[in-house]
Amino acid sequence: MMADFDVVVIGAGPGGYVAAIRAAQLGLKVACVEKRATLGGTCLNVGCMPSKALLHASELYAEARHGSLEKFGISLGEVKLDLDRMQAEKSKAVKELTGGIEFLFRKNKVTWLKGAARFLDARSIEVGGETVTAKNFVIATGSEVAFPPGLSADGEVIITSTEALELKAVPEHMVVVGGGVIGLELGSVWRRLGAKVTVVEYMPSITPTMDREVSTEFAKILMKQGFDIRTATKVTKIERNGAGATLTVEPADGGEAETIEADVVLLSVGRRPNTDGLDVAAAGLSLDPKGRVPVGHDFSTSVPGIWAIGDVIEGPMLAHKAEDEGIAVAEFIAGLSGQVNHAVIPSVVYTMPEFASVGLTEEEVKASGKAYKVGKFPFMANSRAKANRDTDGLVKVIADEATDRVLGVHILGRMAGTMIAQAAQAMEFGASSEDIAYTCHAHPTHPEALKEAAMAVTGKPIHI
Ligand code: FAD
Ligand code: NAD
Repeated sequence: MMADFDVVVIGAGPGGYVAAIRAAQLGLKVACVEKRATLGGTCLNVGCMPSKALLHASELYAEARHGSLEKFGISLGEVKLDLDRMQAEKSKAVKELTGGIEFLFRKNKVTWLKGAARFLDARSIEVGGETVTAKNFVIATGSEVAFPPGLSADGEVIITSTEALELKAVPEHMVVVGGGVIGLELGSVWRRLGAKVTVVEYMPSITPTMDREVSTEFAKILMKQGFDIRTATKVTKIERNGAGATLTVEPADGGEAETIEADVVLLSVGRRPNTDGLDVAAAGLSLDPKGRVPVGHDFSTSVPGIWAIGDVIEGPMLAHKAEDEGIAVAEFIAGLSGQVNHAVIPSVVYTMPEFASVGLTEEEVKASGKAYKVGKFPFMANSRAKANRDTDGLVKVIADEATDRVLGVHILGRMAGTMIAQAAQAMEFGASSEDIAYTCHAHPTHPEALKEAAMAVTGKPIHI
């Protein structure tokens, strides 16, 4: 029997839409199923893109409002916030971006099957009452919000990231449960727009999976910005009370409980892989204990012709990881050799300063038992940061003591998210710290701080 398509991708997030486009570029007949009204998945609709639009706009407001321009002789008079307009501009960006994927689908002749997919067996799915067959299925159904045990959102006062991107007024007091990426990014948006923000984090440090030393520095800077950060603290109860909520918190190891009043509570303790309604069992697949679809190095599952990528499989839940896997899986399906180096996936927290990282943290290197060297360089000694009067943060390079190969780079600073690409490329090429130190960097630029941190690995930075 002829299949309707060579490849049907389920889910049009950064993993799925990229896989569909690459498969079509490789000459395959491709469809992509998406149940949302627009393409682009979590990232474009309710994730990366709307959050970055609000982070940018709120940073401009904070700079204008809180006097950081005054030292340059720029007085603006009274600065006012029109939140509706800020939200409208964000929505415009999202619409342009999701519309852009629709354009790319038309350009590459990818058929968008609108509706939710459900497996009937390993070769067919049902979408909107129709049966669709394919030689290959790629599961790219992404992730959904995870809730702390015993707690849930009501969408009004106790909210998730999706509602936190849509607030119609600046809350007086926002309590963020979970001091990870979402909590700190969206907490920053509302802090800059005027909210008091308290972060309650279960672990002893915010961003607990990132390099501890740099995370500690990060927390200090956020506290200077007015964040109230309570680490090693657990939330045991959240109760609605009129227009707000009362949280009961206590030390993570147990101890005396106290209450915190909030008018908005953002739950941001992580996301879970999403296969809701997909009926993977009908295709002969089972999930791992964390609800992920198990795959091999080529993203194939245990069922021939079924593949999986992105947030629904193992690894960090990041858009660029999903995209790279999307390209690789399409190449594997087409009989080529796809490639994703999971050891070199950068991650960025888009706060101000940004916190970016690639490779291993010092804690991870230590745990591996490998002998290592560390080079650090503060932006305080970087001439461009100094000229811009914006010297928060540092660069930290960790290298293998025996081979000098770079094992990890951690950057806290205004340009960290952009700078980390250079570190990732160096690591992808197997660079030593000396390779970075002897690469000529333009002056005056922030990336010179990476060069100097690399020089510091051998104890020879110039400007400190
Ligand atoms: P998703 O983007 O989740 O897409 C899956 C799609 O599948 C969805 O559109 C869903 O509707 C659809 N779907 C699910 N089931 C079915 C079905 N049965 N039938 C049809 N369609 C289905 N990552 C970054 O790298 N950088 C960031 O700055 C960043 N910011 C973020 C901010 C927020 C607030 C959030 C929530 C996430 C952020 N992320 C960020 C994470 C990023 O959004 C995800 O890692 C990324 O979207 C994962 O891509 P994906 O293609 O695997 O899945
Ligand atoms: P996260 O894993 O980044 O952070 C969750 C935090 O909540 C952790 O610090 C964890 O220790 C803490 N926590 C867990 N249970 C808790 C509890 N009961 N009480 C208090 N704290 C608790 O998750 P997130 O911030 O929700 O983000 C979800 C995913 O989305 C992440 O995997 C992230 O990669 C992705 N994302 C990425 C970006 C980005 O790349 N800039 C931005 C937003 C989201």
